[in-house]
Amino acid sequence: MKKQYGRQLEETIDLAMRLYQLPSIIKEGHEELEHVNECEYFKKADGTYLRGYPVHSTTHLIEKGAERELTFSKEIYLTENGTLQKFYSYSEWPYCESCKKTHSYIHREIAKDQTLTENELEKVEGFITNSFSFNKKSA
Ligand SMILES: [Zn+2]
Repeated sequence: MKKQYGRQLEETIDLAMRLYQLPSIIKEGHEELEHVNECEYFKKADGTYLRGYPVHSTTHLIEKGAERELTFSKEIYLTENGTLQKFYSYSEWPYCESCKKTHSYIHREIAKDQTLTENELEKVEGFITNSFSFNKKSA
């Protein structure tokens, strides 16, 4: 079901839907390219993967120690039917034996409260608009 966000944001979203590639959203795993095949992804009720593009996030450091670092993020994805969907994610930076380096391991969940504030909607619109002006310059 497509939601209503107001005409200006909806036009911006329509444009984004035509220009963005929407990859499957990782539910759990290392986000790095080397690990895309090992990750768990969100699935929809029909069994296909939920696809989306991150259009806004805020990150908070929870813990930073010698042994580990943990952050919490609120993220908004533009998903394939043009709906903005909110996620919460926790990231850790464990040492990866196969790559011989530290990189992020993510646990992501769909937020129970999908309410988007005016401020968040403005940030989303700003992000998408900026990404288009960047694309124009680099094209
Ligand atoms: Zn690795």
